[in-house]
Amino acid sequence: MANADFLNEINKRRTFAIISHPDAGKTTITEKVLLFGNALQTAGTVKGKKSGQHAKSDWMEMEKERGISVTTSVMQFPYNDHLVNLLDTPGHEDFSEDTYRTLTAVDSCLMVIDAAKGVEDRTRKLMEVTRLRDTPILTFMNKLDRDIRDPLEVMDEVESELDILCAPITWPIGCGKSFKGVYHLYRDETILYQSGHGHTIQEVRILKGLDNPELEDAIGSDLAETLRDELELVRGASNDFDKELFLDGQLTPVFFGTALGNFGVDHMLDGMVEWAPAPQGRETDESPVESTDTKFSGFVFKIQANMDPKHRDRIAFCRIVSGKYEKGMKMRHSRLGKDVRISDALTFLAGDRALLEEAYAGDIIGLHNHGTIRIGDTFTSGDNYRFSGIPNFAPELFKRIRLRDPLKQKQLLKGLIQLSEEGAVQVFRPLANNDLIVGAVGVLQFDVVVARLKAEYNVDALYEHINVNTARWVYCKDEKKLDEFRRKGEQNLALDGGDNLTYIAPTRVNLQLSQERFPDIEFKNTREN
Ligand code: GDP
Repeated sequence: MANADFLNEINKRRTFAIISHPDAGKTTITEKVLLFGNALQTAGTVKGKKSGQHAKSDWMEMEKERGISVTTSVMQFPYNDHLVNLLDTPGHEDFSEDTYRTLTAVDSCLMVIDAAKGVEDRTRKLMEVTRLRDTPILTFMNKLDRDIRDPLEVMDEVESELDILCAPITWPIGCGKSFKGVYHLYRDETILYQSGHGHTIQEVRILKGLDNPELEDAIGSDLAETLRDELELVRGASNDFDKELFLDGQLTPVFFGTALGNFGVDHMLDGMVEWAPAPQGRETDESPVESTDTKFSGFVFKIQANMDPKHRDRIAFCRIVSGKYEKGMKMRHSRLGKDVRISDALTFLAGDRALLEEAYAGDIIGLHNHGTIRIGDTFTSGDNYRFSGIPNFAPELFKRIRLRDPLKQKQLLKGLIQLSEEGAVQVFRPLANNDLIVGAVGVLQFDVVVARLKAEYNVDALYEHINVNTARWVYCKDEKKLDEFRRKGEQNLALDGGDNLTYIAPTRVNLQLSQERFPDIEFKNTREN
């Protein structure tokens, strides 16, 4: 039976990720969120492109060079009696696979929009992914210290392009040089903005009530009048906040502010801890697991190497779905049917690694991976079910990889297989020859792989063109038919990093012909462990 303390631990947790188009302000918001969580002394240490100081969440050399965030990191911080887990996602499109999988590990998302630009490409794509699980979405309209578009128009764009209703929670007063703050529609308060205080938590001046005579003094009588008129219009034209629709992923509460000026982020956080769901259960290949189940369970959504040059190991990120992690506990690695004792799981308190004593549903723990953990793996307290819905995607780009020094073939294969288990890239070994084919979803992955092979496996590799257009995982319940297919199709078959049979097609037409010729064979473009 779950007792009250246990339920309280779950109810106080919120696990979310930020989705946005590059440059909308995700990194800046992350800094401010950590500032409110007292996780950073002064904001600005997450990423300083200009100062040359680098993010706690940007580990790899390549990220530093390119100023992009390639890896996913996890940050936990307290906020208003709650415990918040923020899962960072790579912003660059080439790492979308990682992003998709990270979104399976959260219970809500914050959508950040550059209010001068409105809805952009990457946001559109990421919203599609959140729709797969109807993840609740909060929205932050950023960069109000600049001249933005008409806020009603931007909200309209969100509604029509992303197919989600907008409910403004705060409303901006002016923008750019005349940005004065926001009015909170539900607290009936005007919260005044002061520029130049972005690196600290601001002492804000709050005026209660829209008819407060001090409002004229504070923002000027013209703006005060405009605000009152606008609010009348906004209240008439937009949706009221509705928690049920929000939890269903059909309506998003909208907050306005400036991440750089550290204004408005706390209003969003208040909304997050008040409305966003506590850790949710997940589907398995048997029956669903509820977050309030007392038996431990979790799934791996990400494997990452070299997060810290001082610890050159690989960490599997496991989202706890139910129960409690305790130091030294026994877990079952469900795919292998093996019990393991875990006494050194890590937590990621704002990027610093610390040995963890206990963790609950919604938390992410880092398990040391000695080559036995793959993306999608399930850990339980003795059961054999597996969580579903953590996909691998069929790559769309392929290259043959070759060694400069042929003596290191074994090292190369080991490196590629480990990198494929991390989800950094996919590797295919044709049945008919000794080629090694690397498959990626985005082109940047190829560079990362060669750089990491050199740094971590001391292998000097290069790419050659190969005539492969697409890949499909192959399944058939009928062993005989699968054998026949294996014989007849050998020229196009390969094993991936996890020894799964894959069809490697030189052209789309070739794939289509094979599908017609072998109707009993399933050709799948995603694979779950
Ligand atoms: P990301 O790519 O989404 O992580 O975006 P960043 O947080 O790195 O922000 C991109 C750029 O926009 C940086 O130069 C930030 O300083 C700037 N920026 C972020 N938030 C604001 C804001 O509220 N106002 C202004 N004027 N600039 C901002």
